[in-house]
Amino acid sequence: MSLEEPLPPRGRCAVHPDLPAGGTCSRCGSFICADCATSVAGLGARLYCRACAARPDVNYLEALRQRYEGRRDGWAWVMGGVTLLLCVGVAAALARWGLRATRQSLFTGVLLLPVPVGVAFFLGQRWARHALLATPLVTAVVAGVLAPDGRFLFFLCAIPGVLTALRIHRDVRNQLFFRLPVPPGMLKVLWNERFNNPMARQASRLGFSALFMPLLAPVAVICGVVALTRVDPKALPPIGRRGQAIAGLVLGLVGPLLWWFVLLPWLSDRLHS
Ligand SMILES: [Zn+2]
Ligand SMILES: [Zn+2]
Repeated sequence: MSLEEPLPPRGRCAVHPDLPAGGTCSRCGSFICADCATSVAGLGARLYCRACAARPDVNYLEALRQRYEGRRDGWAWVMGGVTLLLCVGVAAALARWGLRATRQSLFTGVLLLPVPVGVAFFLGQRWARHALLATPLVTAVVAGVLAPDGRFLFFLCAIPGVLTALRIHRDVRNQLFFRLPVPPGMLKVLWNERFNNPMARQASRLGFSALFMPLLAPVAVICGVVALTRVDPKALPPIGRRGQAIAGLVLGLVGPLLWWFVLLPWLSDRLHS
């Protein structure tokens, strides 16, 4: 740029005064150059300055990741508890029957197979996530070798174990415990579940329940109203679920009317005829 034609001050980046601004930050409004313009996952095409893009209220999905990364989720604690129970159970059985090479004590030993996987899972070792998928089947196969009569039963017992393991494997919160790279889309699903106006979801559930249990109607209405006041699509992060809040409110109002004008007269007709 030349001294003869200085750029107007409002046209320059707030951080790099020698660079022309291409736009303004969606949060603080300061001018940003192409270098500074930062998009934030989950907030569409809006651009921010770097300082704003790093704020937890703007970059809420990244804040969510940092909040949960490496921290044990419910499943990790469940696995730790089950593993502890298995160890205690096996110790009690061995104390009772003794450590002889009988079929019973061998069979008791089968229960120790999942223990290393459980311990590693609790400690956040990534291989344990995959090993967990195979553990119920492997345990069933070994148990089937020791007691061929029970083979069918063992496989039947393994099925819920495999299904639970699959569910854990796909759980986003659990993946964060294992510090796996979770894409923003999946983080948004987790955020939506836990922090996007949960009161509205509660209101719609209560509203549906109020159709069968009219005593719940006032609670549904209150939850619906509170949830509706919280809806703010322009907030950072945006708070939604307006539809569910309205559904809770409307169902909470309709439920008692339905009982009063339709169901109760119908019931009293039935009782008096
Ligand atoms: Zn800014
Ligand atoms: Zn800049």
